[in-house]
Parts: sequence; C-alpha cells; structure tokens
Amino acid sequence: MQNTPLMTAETLAELTALRRDLHAHPELGFAEHRTAAIVADRLRKAGLEVETGIGGTGVVGTLRKGNGNRAIALRADMDALAMPEETGLPYASTTAGAMHACGHDGHTTMLLAAAEAMVDQDFSGTVHFVFQPAEEGRGGAKAMIEDGILDRFPVDAAYGLHNMPGLDLGVLAAVEGPQLASSDSWSVSFRGIGSHGAKPHQGRDAVTAAGVFLSQIHSIVAREVDPLEPAVISACALSAGDFAALNVIPDTVKIGGTARAYSAGVRDQLEAAIGRHASGVATGFGIEADYTFLRRIPPVVNAATPTKIAQLAAVNALGAGNLRTAFPPSTAGDDFAEFGTRVPGAYVWLGMGETRENGQHHNTNYDFNDACIPYGVAYWCAVIAKELG
Ligand SMILES: [Zn+2]
Ligand SMILES: [Zn+2]
Repeated sequence: MQNTPLMTAETLAELTALRRDLHAHPELGFAEHRTAAIVADRLRKAGLEVETGIGGTGVVGTLRKGNGNRAIALRADMDALAMPEETGLPYASTTAGAMHACGHDGHTTMLLAAAEAMVDQDFSGTVHFVFQPAEEGRGGAKAMIEDGILDRFPVDAAYGLHNMPGLDLGVLAAVEGPQLASSDSWSVSFRGIGSHGAKPHQGRDAVTAAGVFLSQIHSIVAREVDPLEPAVISACALSAGDFAALNVIPDTVKIGGTARAYSAGVRDQLEAAIGRHASGVATGFGIEADYTFLRRIPPVVNAATPTKIAQLAAVNALGAGNLRTAFPPSTAGDDFAEFGTRVPGAYVWLGMGETRENGQHHNTNYDFNDACIPYGVAYWCAVIAKELG
C-alpha cells in the first residue's frame, strides 16, 4: 500500500485490516453485537463519550469541542445481509448465510476512522457519530429514534453516506432533492363467498375481483401520478385457493406488493389510490376488502443547506473535479430517511471505482473497495470542519 494525499499507508493498512475483519464476521440486523463492541471499544479508547444499546445494538460516540452550540449527526450502518457469499476472498464471511454485500463494513470503518481522526482536530460544537443497526429492511433507524436518540443527542443536521460501485473511485455525488425512494408494503384481502366452481352464482367470486383489482392498480402510476414524479407499484404476492381443489372457488384472495415514491405527496397518493381501487372493486363485486398499507421507509430527500455543506466538504476533501452535483436517484431505500425527515439531512454516494465482476450491491460477489476508505474518511472530517469549523 502507498501513501495517498489523504492518509498514510500505515493508517490505510490498519483500516483495511479492520474492514476485512468486519467483513469476515458479518452480523444481521439487531445482532451486531461483535461489531458494536469493536466500535464502542475503539471510540472509548480514542476518548469519545460512548453510549451503547441504543435501538438494540446501536452505538453513539460523541465528540465536543469549543463552545459552539451547533450539533450534527454522522451516521453509518453496521448490519450485513442474510445471504451467502461467493467471492472466495481470503476474508470472506465466516458466518453461513450472512454477508456484507452492501458495504456497511466499509461504512462502519470509515466513520470510526473519522471519529478517531477528529479527536486531534479543532472545531467548535458537537458531533455525534451514529453507528446504526439493522438498515437492511429491519428498521434500525426507527428503533434508534423510538429509543430517543434525537432527544438524547439533539442535532441540527444529519449526514449519511453510501458506497457506489461503478462511480469513479474517490468521486462523491452530493445532490439536492430525492436520492432514494420510499419503500412501503401494501396488501389487500378480498373476502367473498366461496362456492362450487360450477356454480359461481351461488357465491361471491373474490378471485375474479382480485384479477380486476390487479389490472386496475397499474393505472395509478400511469393515470393518476404526475408524469414528472417517479413512482412504482408492484404486486409481488398472491395467494388463493388450492391446486388440489380446482373445482372450488375460495372465500378469500390475498394480494400484496410494494409501493415506491420520491416525495411525501406521491407516497400519500399511492396509499390512498391502492385502497380506493380495492374498495371500489369490492363494492362492484359485492364483497369485502381489507386493506393495509405499511409505511416502512420514507424517501431520502436531501435538504438544500446540508447538501451545500456536503458539496463544499467534498470539494475541500477530494477536489472540485471529484464532486458530482447530478446523479440519478435509486429506487432502493435507506432508512437514513428516518433521520432526514426529522432534521435537515444530506445523503451522498461515494465512488468505489471499477469493482469485481457482478460486484453490485446485494450480489453474492460484491466486495467493498478498500481503496475508497481515505476518501470517505476525508469527506467525513471535512463535513465536520465545514459545519463546526
Ligand atoms: Zn443494502
Ligand atoms: Zn447499504
């Protein structure tokens, strides 16, 4: 390893070893006990105030300097995914069925290194380094908020970062507005009256009703949502009847799926429209519909002021040529949104450069690129300097 302008070879080697150790020992959401212990131990050794067990396995390390009143949160996620690893790397997962396939091992390493680096730097204010459990669909951010993180550690702004394969190494995309979609679940149970398959007139057919509903909901995005606002509705599960009884029309059909949007308004619109179609179809067929819309993750929408600070920090840390102020949003979700909807937030993408073949997020062949560690650490330190300098 060579020195980079941002980090000595020795530091990078040490952080790479830490990242690979976390990679070899992935832990699923709310079970990040080993990871959280390593994080808390290093933060304490560096001299930060540390609180553990927030929202399950969450850790907050706090660094206060000077007499500034401003406080910010920098957030990293710690969890792995429930999937096998097929990289064949020497530091591949040693836990069957768990893999760091989203790079949260790298996120944890970079934020920890930034906390350690800032101990010796001057600034005025408070930084809370937030190590969040269970980002991958298990509600870790919400758990931390329900555990009072924003009351115990009030902040004026929150910052998040995610690695991005394919974006040039050391390039950082910081874009105002929508970054990631909301990720919600919906389901409808149509309850009719079952009957003999040969005598449908003696019942109320929920199967045909569900078929009509399924074709109607695809008109919501096409005909109701503003064409300039992206949205997705997909039906992903459907259950009814029994293939061993093809002469029986069942009482109940259950159908469910996902809904995604980039604004609170469109999200509300999807929730209302799916329910309206469900009850409209049920009325038409003379049956009942039970509708549930489960709000899982809000959209990540970057606010103007923290986005500007993120951009200035990227220019200072990485150079003006390495900042992208335009980058396409993702239809994936990230529960950083739980922070970003409560305080102004900015969520940025850090380029990992060309990566392994099939090295996209959530692929069994993914691996975080350790070469981007110095850039991520430098960005975090620059955000603190810009916010509290
Ligand atoms: Zn992920
Ligand atoms: Zn992720």
